[in-house]
Amino acid sequence: MKKIQDDILSYREMCDAENVQTLQRGMNYRLNPSYSVILMSQRINAPYQDKVYEDGVTIEYEGHDVSKSGYDHNPKNEDQPEKYPSGRLTQNGRFIKAVNDFKEGKHPPELVKVYEKVLPGVWSLKGYFDLIDYKIVHDGKRNVFRYILELSDIEGTADSRSVNVEHTRLIPSEVKREVWKRDGGKCVLCGETKNLHFDHDLPFSRGGTSLSVKNVRLLCMRHNLQKSDKIE
Ligand SMILES: [Zn+2]
Repeated sequence: MKKIQDDILSYREMCDAENVQTLQRGMNYRLNPSYSVILMSQRINAPYQDKVYEDGVTIEYEGHDVSKSGYDHNPKNEDQPEKYPSGRLTQNGRFIKAVNDFKEGKHPPELVKVYEKVLPGVWSLKGYFDLIDYKIVHDGKRNVFRYILELSDIEGTADSRSVNVEHTRLIPSEVKREVWKRDGGKCVLCGETKNLHFDHDLPFSRGGTSLSVKNVRLLCMRHNLQKSDKIE
């Protein structure tokens, strides 16, 4: 049976997997030539209402608000925009167009890679999804978009696209969660809290066996790089 993945990554590992320096926006239409990326959150204080259905394979993802910059207003009181004032499509609009193209038979469903924020700096790769529908919902104040995504069948082939994720997957998620807790979300050498990697103490190439909490630790990017220099 199909099941949503739950591979834990640090923020840095997520960015590396997508070949970007930073990943700020929740919706990223065609971040990659062959797929889009969304960042979801089911945390209590999350700015948007995202959820996984009880069927375990369907995600409902809320569209994004009008941007806050420019003038004084509350985006949470305004309808989510499909277009900018210029007429150009927003991220909402691009995802809607992909749904419509799919429904009209012009394209297969847009492939969307989904990450979920688990804790500050800790993300979970949920896998690849087909963007199959959207709806407009009145949330009590204004209209919002809700996108419907269903776990895709292409998972196996899609995974081989990303070497980084392949590598990082070797450390089981339970181990990463434990390590994150134990190390307090900081580089164990300098206390840095940004750009962290899960570091495997012994390189696999030297027979570093595995994968217990004992030989995995959190390192910042700088210390991670220094370490790989020494190994060369
Ligand atoms: Zn460090």
